[in-house]
Amino acid sequence: MTTPSFDLGPDHLDLRAWVHDFAADVVRPAASEWDEKEEFPWPVLEEAAAIGLYSLDFFATQSFDETGLGIPVTMEELFWGDAGIGLAIVGTALAAAGVSSHGTPEQVGEWVPQMFGSPGDLKLGAFCSSEPDAGSDVGAMRTRATYDEATDEWVLNGTKTWATNGGIADIHVVTAVVDPDLRTRGQASFVVPPGTRGLSQGQKFHKHGIRASHTAEVVLDQCRVPGSCLLGGKEKLDARLARAREGARAGAGSNASMATFERTRPAVGAQAIGIARAAYEVALDYAKTREQFGKAIIENQAIAFALADMKVSIDASRLLVWRAAWMASQGKTFDSAEGSMSKLFAGETAVKVTTQAMQILGGNGFTREYPVERMSRDAKIYTIFEGTSEIQRLVIARAISGAPIR
Ligand SMILES: Cc1cc2nc3c(=O)[nH]c(=O)nc-3n(C[C@H](O)[C@H](O)[C@H](O)COP(=O)(O)OP(=O)(O)OC[C@H]3O[C@@H](n4cnc5c(N)ncnc54)[C@H](O)[C@@H]3O)c2cc1C
Repeated sequence: MTTPSFDLGPDHLDLRAWVHDFAADVVRPAASEWDEKEEFPWPVLEEAAAIGLYSLDFFATQSFDETGLGIPVTMEELFWGDAGIGLAIVGTALAAAGVSSHGTPEQVGEWVPQMFGSPGDLKLGAFCSSEPDAGSDVGAMRTRATYDEATDEWVLNGTKTWATNGGIADIHVVTAVVDPDLRTRGQASFVVPPGTRGLSQGQKFHKHGIRASHTAEVVLDQCRVPGSCLLGGKEKLDARLARAREGARAGAGSNASMATFERTRPAVGAQAIGIARAAYEVALDYAKTREQFGKAIIENQAIAFALADMKVSIDASRLLVWRAAWMASQGKTFDSAEGSMSKLFAGETAVKVTTQAMQILGGNGFTREYPVERMSRDAKIYTIFEGTSEIQRLVIARAISGAPIR
């Protein structure tokens, strides 16, 4: 009988130490500067590429880790350094995951390497799904993809919003409607190759947090891409649409994308844990050294108990994230939406813990002299993107009840 263990093995311990060193030596010292400038941190990305952290090889290796823990361990350490820079480094990997989950092996081999580039010649990827009127409600998507049989091209028209790396990416992965009658089952994903005419950046958003990460609208105006850019290929799409039209296996398409989200959400939860742990550590140190009424403030139960609760929530989040990541690696079904559970709990923990950390630092916590103010701003996105907290609860409630909860 094998012995259950919650210990990381030597490979994961080495990985954690390696990413931690980069986060401590390179990312964290740069965090405040790029947050203030609100610009994409290209020099930091170059340093990440130079050591192989921003590379296809690294993300591919970790994605195929049979324990599932490589990605969460990486995310937690990197985002412990800084979330804005962290997202600038891993945003491409999220777009690459879009190609890997829907593309043929040939498409993955062609497009994913072009998303990363190489040191000195970096490239970026962007995943563009959200629209002004289609955020949580993916079925309301309006961007249209129409097939031009004469040229074997797809023509994309519409406006995408909130796209991480949108407009500055070399490769954009765009979801679009091919059959409006079929709602989510009538959608498909396309690669837009570098330099394609008809794709342009709309407004760049000025954000509350994760300000080193670039977020913008992407406008598609008569944007023509070769037929080969349809992820999965036309034959597969036609067969899927035919099945959906016949009503056979109704709902199969949306279940498939739900399963994809369940597998990717733990990685996002791990990012939130990194932010929470960073703020907790700052607050713990501060509480041990800051004196009021003749003693360290940690000697007050109010402060010590707050820190105890912060630590419990962080560790509970990590257990949920690791469980869901392990389930994904083992191909298990997420009967209780365990992926959504991990993202929900970790995201809400990041908000609570960073807010509490500011409280423990008092006036200092409210200033930009200390990092918890930035961490608190960064944490908030984790209850919003990759499915809001309300949507996670909806998914979990449906999974545990089987009821058509709206
Ligand atoms: C910084 C940033 C980066 C992002 N990066 C990307 C990206 O790279 N690619 C991409 O495609 N998208 C990206 N997004 C978009 C993100 O995923 C959406 O913002 C998110 O899905 C919510 O959509 P929305 O903003 O339209 O909010 P809405 O869907 O309008 O929701 C507004 C409020 O209503 C609630 N609500 C909606 N429906 C329900 C319901 N049925 N029950 C209960 N409550 C409900 C929501 O929870 C929320 O509180 C990003 C967003 C941000 C802010």
